[in-house]
Amino acid sequence: MIKITKSDEESEPPDWRRILAQSLTNLSELPEYLKSPDEKLQEVVERYPMKINPYYLGLIKEKEDPLYNQAVPSLEEITNTFGELDPLHEEQKGVPELITHRYPDRVLFLVSNQCAMYCRFCTRKRKVGDPTKQPNSKQINEGLEYIASHSEIKDVLLSGGDPLILSNKKLEEIISSVYDILSVRKDKYDSSGIIRIGTRIPAVLPQRITPDLCEMLKKYHPLYINTHFNHPKEITPESRKACTMLTNAGIPLGNQTVLLKNVNNNIKTMKSLNRGLISMRVKPYYLYQCDPVKGVGHFITPPEKILKIYESLRGHISGLAVPLPVIDAPGGGGKIPFLPERYIKEINEKGVFLTNYLGYTYFYPRV
Ligand SMILES: *Cc1c(COP(=O)(O)O)cnc(C)c1O
Ligand code: SF4
Repeated sequence: MIKITKSDEESEPPDWRRILAQSLTNLSELPEYLKSPDEKLQEVVERYPMKINPYYLGLIKEKEDPLYNQAVPSLEEITNTFGELDPLHEEQKGVPELITHRYPDRVLFLVSNQCAMYCRFCTRKRKVGDPTKQPNSKQINEGLEYIASHSEIKDVLLSGGDPLILSNKKLEEIISSVYDILSVRKDKYDSSGIIRIGTRIPAVLPQRITPDLCEMLKKYHPLYINTHFNHPKEITPESRKACTMLTNAGIPLGNQTVLLKNVNNNIKTMKSLNRGLISMRVKPYYLYQCDPVKGVGHFITPPEKILKIYESLRGHISGLAVPLPVIDAPGGGGKIPFLPERYIKEINEKGVFLTNYLGYTYFYPRV
């Protein structure tokens, strides 16, 4: 078992650390044009931390714009009582604290609870940014031991918080340990296990993607990154550069988007977001219905909306730019595809009747 070092500091702080250190964590620090006169907002920040780094702040042009709504606290986080703290039942008994083992061959491993920005709609609002819930070395080692002792695990998904908030050194300690465990788990076709990182950093602090980080990550292939862009305004020259550096390091990039009211719940935004993503070689992977999390109710759209959005994409824009809509089932059922029923018109003894994207019906015969 590896030893996780206590220190998370590098000798010379890299640029991204300096940017992060200047993050706004208090409402009074917001620039005048983004300030709200509502004093009760302070209660929201005390309950759910705020962190807006200068890079992301620079992308927010006005109040109530899509990026403002993702980053700046709203009173509804405490007044809207809809939802649960942990609707997906990620906290399971009988597995280490940082592990969720929901599917047979893969686990979620929450290696950090800090992020480069705290998104107001976060599914893990119950714990992100809480200094008392920051994973420690002992917990990380317990997670690694669990992975080592369960040979059925072939896919380890590092998430958080944001794993890329860790220093390269600490991150490499974790990744290399997982890599050593998985690389011997080859099947008869010589396929080894994979490592995935879930991170919103390319969208919210692209400066974190440095040549050193890429050099480190590429030693641990097959390594995949799923990032998290929610709006085309998050696609900037900086985030393009970050994604290019990662793909040039041989890392396939996917994207997970959450459908959010007053952020991206319209067809025009979704088209331009997904086209923007493939232009950066980022493959849209999942489009999530927003989880019924306490404090997030004001972002939730009616489920039918996701079907409409899917229909507006499928067939109309490059198939590569179309994510799979899913609902992560409350109660811990996992991700379930949520697709319009109308594509399958009828299945009978003769074959299947299908409806295409323009609404025309076609017949596929049985043999
Ligand atoms: C999302 C998720 C995964 C990965 O699911 P895929 O469909 O393979 O991307 C694994 N474990 C948990 C607990 C998850 O929530
Ligand atoms: S970066 Fe991810 S984990 Fe962190 S606050 Fe945003 S959605 Fe939550």
